[in-house]
Amino acid sequence: MQSLKIDNGIIKAKKALMGPSLHPVKNIHLEITDGVLTQVKAHPTATTREVLNATHSTLLPGLVDCHVHLALDGINFKDCMEKWHSPGLMASHIKKQLNAGLEQGLTYFRDGGDRGGQALTFKNSSPTNLPIKASGAALRIQKMYGTFLGPGLKKEQIKEAIAFLAGKNADPIKVLVSGIVSFKEYGRVGPQQFDLPLLQQIVNSARKEGLKVMAHANSDEAVKICIQAGVHSVEHGYFITHDTLKMMAEKDIYWIPTIVPVANQLKKPYRDRFTKDELYVIEKTYKRQQEMLCWACEWGVTVGVGTDAGASGVMHGTGFHEELQLYRKAGLSCETILRTATINGAKLLGLDSGLEQGKPLRFTAVAGDPLEDLDILKTPEYICLHTPC
Ligand SMILES: [Zn+2]
Repeated sequence: MQSLKIDNGIIKAKKALMGPSLHPVKNIHLEITDGVLTQVKAHPTATTREVLNATHSTLLPGLVDCHVHLALDGINFKDCMEKWHSPGLMASHIKKQLNAGLEQGLTYFRDGGDRGGQALTFKNSSPTNLPIKASGAALRIQKMYGTFLGPGLKKEQIKEAIAFLAGKNADPIKVLVSGIVSFKEYGRVGPQQFDLPLLQQIVNSARKEGLKVMAHANSDEAVKICIQAGVHSVEHGYFITHDTLKMMAEKDIYWIPTIVPVANQLKKPYRDRFTKDELYVIEKTYKRQQEMLCWACEWGVTVGVGTDAGASGVMHGTGFHEELQLYRKAGLSCETILRTATINGAKLLGLDSGLEQGKPLRFTAVAGDPLEDLDILKTPEYICLHTPC
């Protein structure tokens, strides 16, 4: 895999999935001027300005992971947390996780936070503009779920915490609305941390700072109050119901179903930690999520791909392809999956780049056609980033 930064010249490609509809164009020339895609020629003539010959490749708007934790590695939670006290070690750790993602064809990441705001600090201290959005520490209530994601707050401290995060260039604001799903009892979820008025206050305070809210929520009730409060995206959303999905579609709220962190618990060595009954609960839980994913796409919910990479059993980069495979097994078409993995993610992150005339260039290139074989995405040939890495 080669990472490119193309400012000027012409790219020849066998095929490109163009614009917001991923419209396929064959035998294409893309003309780049100052990093912006200025001209698209479907039936090109000879050129001397070629900078990339990708005549066996398909170009697609870059892959986007909407939910990662760069301060964690998916392998050893404790080891990672120990590094949090050493800025040098943490910086090389995050660089490694980020590179693992880029190596797998990803072109942008949204970090879902960590207690000390490590990923945000890394982004802020980088001399170049990294392809990361980072939420910093998550908002959570004292003594409730998520000690590794954010310091526990009293309700009256929330406003001040949002102003602090905004001052540190956090984007978006992450809030833990509920706990996590139980692997012991099917359908059980950790307690809700915020009620509707408090969540509304968070959304409004974030909005005043020009920020959107990324809400961790499981249970139908928790997702419902997220929708009512007007959050930007619902993360996880396990045990969501049909009616709530329809509400999400209506209110144009994004959904990041994160199936792989649950599904991967069934793989070795993770499965050895669970009893037979727990394995049954895990399987039933993620299969329900796959079913809801299909309904969500059917009813027009904008789904973005998020892996929760860094969570136990989910590696940065490869976790993305595992999540896409779970979408495929759920029954979604390659085209729908590619949409979730590229343009939906870009829309969710507010990126103004991709494979569209007049916009800064950002793409992932693969040998072959991902519309026919999604597995081809696992071996990307090139990524082109608008911002150098
Ligand atoms: Zn997460």
